[in-house]
Amino acid sequence: MIDVERLAKLYGELPAVRDLSFHLGAGQILGLVGPNGAGKTTTLSCLTGVLRPTSGTIHIAGHDLLTQPVAAKQALAFIPDEPALFPYLNIEEHLRFIGRLYGVADAPERIPPLLAELELAEKHRALPGELSRGMKQKLALGMGLLHDPRALILDEPLTGLDPASIRRTKRTIVARAEAGTAVILSSHLLSLVEELCTHILVLQKGRRVAFGTPAEIVADRPQLAGRGLEEVFLALTAQEEEGESTPP
Ligand code: ATP
Repeated sequence: MIDVERLAKLYGELPAVRDLSFHLGAGQILGLVGPNGAGKTTTLSCLTGVLRPTSGTIHIAGHDLLTQPVAAKQALAFIPDEPALFPYLNIEEHLRFIGRLYGVADAPERIPPLLAELELAEKHRALPGELSRGMKQKLALGMGLLHDPRALILDEPLTGLDPASIRRTKRTIVARAEAGTAVILSSHLLSLVEELCTHILVLQKGRRVAFGTPAEIVADRPQLAGRGLEEVFLALTAQEEEGESTPP
């Protein structure tokens, strides 16, 4: 569903992402993790068509993001950690607008249950300025889900959410994956990644340090067997800092 082949992105001379390849299938949830500056945001920006890669290819649901950008983006939803909302559109108007943009014919029928799922029904006439940070985050999620994307990409999806909303958002993400959506979530919350993700991609200085299911990552590195993701993450990124080679 999401195919990345030899992706590279340079900012001037700085290689923010280098030679990154991975494949994510329908129903899989990938946790994108890495230290500050590892290249996660740059990778997400390339995957969502916000940034043009320096080289490499990206396919979303079989569509080349560079040569078939409309079809690729039609299959995609990106939920940024700082959602950009329209100050003069209320919650329901945001969703109706997205429905028209993506040509969702049954948007009027889809919007009420989506608002109920996100617990925004009571606020459907509220403007962004009247919403809390968590409510804005939930609206952004609703805007991303309305057209039933086949690939869902989320940047720090739980920022600003209260405990009940965290639980509901996690359920929403898992339910979408169970329905066949490929999900990528970038987060520093390793407990979230450990709980939800079927696959993990560890980036360090723009390079892929590890990719696979948690079992595959540990199978390549017997010394990490039985350790939690936090310890595995720290061991992988520390090794790289010290310049030791780690198999991909
Ligand atoms: P964090 O966890 O801190 O958000 P990240 O993994 O998302 O970090 P990126 O934001 O992708 O990392 O940054 C990767 C590298 O690219 C860093 O060295 C950063 O300084 C650099 N970088 C990011 N954006 C730009 C830009 N617009 N111009 C120049 N360099 C940039």
